Amino acid sequence: MAAFTEALPKIGETERAALESGTVGFEGCLFAGKADFARLAAIPAERLDEEERVFLEEQVAELCGMLDDFAIDEAHDLPAEVWDYLRRHRFFGMIIPRAYGGLEFSHAAHAAVVTRIASVNLAAAVTVMVPNSLGPAELLLRYGTEAQKAHYLPRLARSEDLPCFALTSPYAGSDAAAIPDVGVLTQREWNGAMTPGFALTFSKRYITLAPVATVVGLAFNAIDPARPAGSQELGITCALIPVPHPGLRIGARHRPMNGAFMNGPVQGEDVFIPLDWVIGGKQNIGKGWRMLMECLATGRGISLPALSVALQQTSLYVANGYARLRNQFGLSIHRFPNIATPLAQMAAELYATDAARRLTTCVLDQGERPSVASAIVKYHSTEAARRALNHGMDILAGKAICAGPSNLLSIAYRHAPIAITVEGANILTRALIIFGQGAVRCHPYLLREIQAVEQRDASALGEALLGHCGQVLHCLRGILLQAPLLGQVPRGFEREARTITRLAASFAFTTDVCVGILGGKLKRLELLSTRLGDALSHLYMACACLWRYAGQPDAGLAPVVHGAVRQQIWLASAALHALYGNVSNPALRVAGMVALGGLRPIRRLRDAETLAIAEALDDPLVIGRLCPDMGLPRAGGLRDLHDLLSLAQEIGEEESQRLAGAIRQSKALEEIAATSAAPQALAFLRALDKVIQVDSFPE
Ligand SMILES: Cc1cc2nc3c(=O)[nH]c(=O)nc-3n(C[C@H](O)[C@H](O)[C@H](O)COP(=O)(O)OP(=O)(O)OC[C@H]3O[C@@H](n4cnc5c(N)ncnc54)[C@H](O)[C@@H]3O)c2cc1C
Repeated sequence: MAAFTEALPKIGETERAALESGTVGFEGCLFAGKADFARLAAIPAERLDEEERVFLEEQVAELCGMLDDFAIDEAHDLPAEVWDYLRRHRFFGMIIPRAYGGLEFSHAAHAAVVTRIASVNLAAAVTVMVPNSLGPAELLLRYGTEAQKAHYLPRLARSEDLPCFALTSPYAGSDAAAIPDVGVLTQREWNGAMTPGFALTFSKRYITLAPVATVVGLAFNAIDPARPAGSQELGITCALIPVPHPGLRIGARHRPMNGAFMNGPVQGEDVFIPLDWVIGGKQNIGKGWRMLMECLATGRGISLPALSVALQQTSLYVANGYARLRNQFGLSIHRFPNIATPLAQMAAELYATDAARRLTTCVLDQGERPSVASAIVKYHSTEAARRALNHGMDILAGKAICAGPSNLLSIAYRHAPIAITVEGANILTRALIIFGQGAVRCHPYLLREIQAVEQRDASALGEALLGHCGQVLHCLRGILLQAPLLGQVPRGFEREARTITRLAASFAFTTDVCVGILGGKLKRLELLSTRLGDALSHLYMACACLWRYAGQPDAGLAPVVHGAVRQQIWLASAALHALYGNVSNPALRVAGMVALGGLRPIRRLRDAETLAIAEALDDPLVIGRLCPDMGLPRAGGLRDLHDLLSLAQEIGEEESQRLAGAIRQSKALEEIAATSAAPQALAFLRALDKVIQVDSFPE
């Protein structure tokens, strides 16, 4: 007991709340060294019900048709008709039950709505996303008193109230549990009677929707000065404040990446709120941090991943479409291997992150709260979106750089860092949440061992340790004698599945060895734990690809899916190699030889395989499968490209590329069109010219 007390990581209160806030899903198998494909196969694929499908095909499609990306960006706001449409069709009440007047959508449907809108305009997507993510509605649904629910939920569902949630302070961003904002327990006259409540002093920043909010969710530290010194801090507490309210200052705007969605500071000094405004009432004073962590355990896996996958889909759709019809040096530029390669990388990465996102959303729809999987999906989808936009910008070159209505990517490119930063900035998420939280939360024995030590329960510790030793032996067996496949995988992917199984054993063994040798010190060794988190993430995403493909097998997509799985496997193995390549502890070095010994070298994708993926993108059906959530805007570059690609499809690949080359001749478009038998040739050439041109503005 003494040795374990010394070695095991200590868990603080805020960390405990985060650890206990989620559940463990398929990712837990990986910590046990088992890639259990049977368990994976049992997770049902996403299915939208009739009402959700109709909403997506009608209301969301109509909304997309109202969005003009450039005009919205220039105006720094959505047009009044869009705000009105969002309110009227209850876009802000997607998570609110029908009983309160909301749409009561599944997580999958909510994500599909955000993805579709984000593919067209990010400001509208963020505006829709926020009231449906961590904030007043979700907190009320989970923790509100009946009176609070009855008052606020119908108003939020009907958009009579627009919410924001204010946690971040100038001095506490990532370390949000350390917010200096206080609420001092007191009594004041309120509605003619002495009323118990809090006097709040706070300064919050970066708060999305704050400038237009009519109800502010606020997190503050509750203090009871009547208690003895040392026990006055009651803990983080969440309350709702209607706008306007005496002392509450709100309305100014930040300009995050100069975007059009509303965001700004919220401040107050000695703002009195009655106790009834605490979410969940008096009994929830001090429980705010746990409430927020519980909401984040789910929310992190939905909104930002939906938004980021939309950015990836837009980048691929745009870059692939443009590269097929942009002709330089007498060739369609997608024929150049250095253009084809990033296109292939975008496709493979999109398939993997979208698979992981869909898998996690489906698990959420089963009532689970997989906090570690949510963090994996948040981190990797937002990073992949940034990479996809970078590739897209490079491929479009000057066309993507000049701002204007016909620009195809620059507004999305500018916004990419926002998704990286919010709901857990990515560096911290990768370093601390995925593995730090994952190891303790998902490991089959670690949490039990820590709890046994905390409770000084030697027999519980003994039991957990026995189980733990059994697991290490199981992993060793998996490493030394290739463990059998658990369950079935899609035909043609058996080899990849065996490699995943082997790597899962190496990952779990490495985790156990690192925890065993380094104990609580592992927490501070961020570079080590980050690599373990990377290995976990890439194994999770590789498995997610197999899950997605099993549900939607498609021969045309097979090269992309093979590439996606191979890429993730390679990244997982590279993370383990990098980990062992950087340890100096002799015992860990020996462990490295065991964990990686006998592992057949895992290659990156060969050039020929990468180019085969790019070739698969010639088929518009494959692009349609990879980018199923693209919306269609009213006007602008994306609309023009869409129209051009439709015409190209009608004319046929060969003829459209011939005409795209011919447009370089200094001849009238009519003259070039006359050389073609295709009746749409002139319309195609005009559409192509429109896509090639960029905007210029008078002084
Ligand atoms: C556009 C936008 C909208 C937002 N909306 C809201 C909102 O509606 N409500 C709200 O309350 N907040 C909101 N935020 C705040 C957001 O959640 C914070 O910006 C975020 O938590 C990071 O805090 P910070 O920006 O202060 O960065 P800091 O905390 O200063 O972090 C700086 C860097 O250090 C890294 N870091 C910190 N700790 C560690 C560690 N232990 N190990 C490794 N790296 C670490 C971070 O990853 C980051 O890269 C919003 C922010 C933006 C930009």
